[in-house]
Amino acid sequence: MTSSDRADVVIIGGAIIGSSVATFLASRSDFDGRIVVVERDNTFRTSSTTLSAASIRLQFSTPLNIEISRFGVDLVKHPDRYLAVDGQVPEVDFVENGYLFLATDAGLATLEHNHAIQRAHGVPVELLTPADLRRRFPWINADDLAGASLGLSDEGWFDAHALLQGFRRKGRELGVEERSGEVVGIDRDGDRVRGVRLADGSAIVADWVVNAAGPRAAEVAAMVGVELPVRPRKRLVYHVEAPVSLGAAPLTIDPSGVYVRPEGPTYITGFSPRDGDPDPDTLDLAPNRGPFESFVWPTLARRIPAFDQLRLLDTWAGHYEVNTLDHNAIVGPHPRIANLLFANGFSGHGLQQAPAVGRGLAEWIATGRWETLDLSPLGYARVERGDAIRELNVV
Ligand SMILES: Cc1cc2nc3c(=O)[nH]c(=O)nc-3n(C[C@H](O)[C@H](O)[C@H](O)COP(=O)(O)OP(=O)(O)OC[C@H]3O[C@@H](n4cnc5c(N)ncnc54)[C@H](O)[C@@H]3O)c2cc1C
Repeated sequence: MTSSDRADVVIIGGAIIGSSVATFLASRSDFDGRIVVVERDNTFRTSSTTLSAASIRLQFSTPLNIEISRFGVDLVKHPDRYLAVDGQVPEVDFVENGYLFLATDAGLATLEHNHAIQRAHGVPVELLTPADLRRRFPWINADDLAGASLGLSDEGWFDAHALLQGFRRKGRELGVEERSGEVVGIDRDGDRVRGVRLADGSAIVADWVVNAAGPRAAEVAAMVGVELPVRPRKRLVYHVEAPVSLGAAPLTIDPSGVYVRPEGPTYITGFSPRDGDPDPDTLDLAPNRGPFESFVWPTLARRIPAFDQLRLLDTWAGHYEVNTLDHNAIVGPHPRIANLLFANGFSGHGLQQAPAVGRGLAEWIATGRWETLDLSPLGYARVERGDAIRELNVV
């Protein structure tokens, strides 16, 4: 093995999580090690990052998730502070229209419970009655609704691809090395990992290995005999054109789980299966139209009568990397393999969590501590204990 095959940090997966970890680490004045990001598909065509709905919210039920997204909001609102290269700033195009969670009688108590937590943590959020809803959003059919929760600022959506390219560009400027290849093995020696092996037969020895493999995270963990409860679950997105404009509409989540938000003058919509519905593990990306016709469109047309007439422009599928324990991220070191770091299981909110998780893991690698946000509650230890941190607001 040559000396060029030695790195301080190897990151497996170069999409939003891997590139955020790399860039925040390279930005630190107290770290000057060699960072290599290994990515199996540099087009990122099938990565969750580029297939995402790219939205960000503060309306979580877990205080730590609120704080994690708060930093994400800061970064997408001020990319100039973090990602400028030669005076150029990525055009992340943050659209700050908010999220609107709708609830029937059955969901009202949860909405109010979440609201109390959010207000206690300074989230600008307002509870709306059905009458408020009709007044503010006359396009909503509120007949069966008992209330809603509206984010008043610091929530919306952005250009995920621009953010990814922004992280990568900044990282490269700071010396991050990107390597094309697929990690097929991780060498372990007792309670330490020693580095990674690639499909082309090469190897990189490393002091730290970071698993940022998205929906393939469990495959990567299995290379060191570690079981990670992270499963690839298919999520469909439908891009539609409507005959009417809803104006500056928020990302609206129906009690059925169907969400819809503006995408320029058009809309995107989709859903996650409810608890107990079939949700098999798969890396399939086929853009099935069936659920749009049978479920999504009828649900939307009931909630937004003007959507009775829609034109389906495009369909795509991506994968949530679902943490089957509790729908929350698994972040930080393995309890007994201290130089193996996880950044996995984001369960549909990894794009917005990438800035805080990247910053956090950079702190951990450089100093051995969480400096800004204590991410230890998200550690792998809870997986071994079976101790769920239940996030109630999953979209
Ligand atoms: C339809 C959909 C909508 C979503 N909407 C939102 C949203 O609105 N807001 C939000 O915050 N999040 C959302 N998400 C979730 C978000 O996109 C993901 O949580 C996030 O992109 C995860 O980033 P990642 O870098 O971990 O994974 P990925 O983007 O999947 O990247 C993992 C990378 O690792 C590489 N890789 C894997 N295995 C190996 C290997 N062995 N060797 C080398 N490279 C490897 C892959 O090629 C890939 O590029 C959505 C996801 C989907 C699918």
